[in-house]
Amino acid sequence: MFHGARHGWIEVVAGVMFSGKSEELIRRVRRALIAGRRVQLFKSHLDDRYGGQFRISSHDGREIDAEPVSNSVQVAEKVSPSTQVVAIDEAQFLDDGICKVADALADAGMRVIVAGTDMDFRGEPFGPMGPLLARAERIDKLHAICVVCGDPATRNQRLIDGAPAPAEGPTIQVGGAESYEARCRHCHEVPKRDRAQRELLLKRGKEKWEGI
Ligand code: ADP
Ligand code: ZN
Repeated sequence: MFHGARHGWIEVVAGVMFSGKSEELIRRVRRALIAGRRVQLFKSHLDDRYGGQFRISSHDGREIDAEPVSNSVQVAEKVSPSTQVVAIDEAQFLDDGICKVADALADAGMRVIVAGTDMDFRGEPFGPMGPLLARAERIDKLHAICVVCGDPATRNQRLIDGAPAPAEGPTIQVGGAESYEARCRHCHEVPKRDRAQRELLLKRGKEKWEGI
């Protein structure tokens, strides 16, 4: 797709939790290893759901470990000039500086693959994911399955003791299936936010919203 004399681009794998972003990132990295590319893999140090580390191996026996990073500067520092493919998982936890770092690496000829949850539990853009999506040459938005209705899921439902968590909670709260569910737009619930949005629409005199 992007072959030619001049290399270097950004591709983003976005989507809700459980949509298979890590699976897709691993697939792309494994294929880059098969192609004999020099690959570095990073992931946010906040994500220790898989025991802190994960390792990707290809069928021809090559393998790489994910290097934990806590900010974008660490990514820039750890990338070796001879690297051809840079993969970053859980990018939503990184700072906005990752946009400039990804641009610089792509400009320098590297293939930059970024995976991350594009929306927080309120349904708002998550950290640097919005600006990364805007910069990317290629975007894939993956869906999970809504656990309520079975439609394609795009939203992260945060739960506290099984009930929808209110909008004013912290944006970053690392958790797995015990505190998050994949849901579609219509089954996604954010108690305080939903009320505030309805009030705003009513205040603007949009009668059609009154029955909601
Ligand atoms: P992500 O990195 O996007 O969080 P993963 O690659 O870690 O996703 O996990 C994807 C896997 O999660 C799927 O292959 C599936 O086995 C599992 N899974 C659990 N709950 C769901 C769901 N509601 N919808 C789709 N897949 C789910
Ligand atoms: Zn649904």
